[in-house]
Amino acid sequence: MSKLNFVLFGPPGAGKGTQSTFLIERYGLIHLSTGDLLRAEIKAETELGLQAQELMDKGELVGDAIVIGMIRNMMEAHLDAKGFIFDGFPRTRAQAEALDEMLSAKNEPIVAMFALEVPEEELVKRLLGRGATSGRSDDRDEAVIRNRIREYEKKTAPLKDFYSDQGKFKSIDGVGTMAQITERLVKAIG
Ligand code: AMP
Repeated sequence: MSKLNFVLFGPPGAGKGTQSTFLIERYGLIHLSTGDLLRAEIKAETELGLQAQELMDKGELVGDAIVIGMIRNMMEAHLDAKGFIFDGFPRTRAQAEALDEMLSAKNEPIVAMFALEVPEEELVKRLLGRGATSGRSDDRDEAVIRNRIREYEKKTAPLKDFYSDQGKFKSIDGVGTMAQITERLVKAIG
């Protein structure tokens, strides 16, 4: 059976992590979040974590080679996975091209890219709310949050065209209850 590889796409605060937890259970997939992987490196106080933290604290993107390497390692650690949900990756065209290359070498392409669409003011409200409880310093400062959204618009949003050109882009309304949004994703997966 061919693998169910999905990209869950959207700006910070769109609900990618939350929706990933529902989808991995429902479809038996492996969740690959580069943000979670980077936070684990920071917690373990590795060299890579220290380098990444400076950029993450400013709301800037970490270098392509670092995140591509992390994704490659995780995919190799889960060769028998039924599929992957890529959450927060790819965030640049170079990352999207590297991902396509890794997957086409295995003949297991991305099946679809689901873009959770949420207006900016709602994102800021959600992230500030999350910052009060998540322990994430990049969720506590409105200037950092807005910078993350700018980075998304400048470097990441253009990937909609990259996936659209491949016929894989699907827009999902990301405003509503968690269950409503899961329902929209499940319908889109079909
Ligand atoms: P996230 O948990 O996806 O919101 O990511 C938190 C932060 O980690 C981002 O603001 C970036 O600094 C960094 N990061 C996560 N994923 C990537 C990626 N694919 N490329 C570059 N930086 C990333």
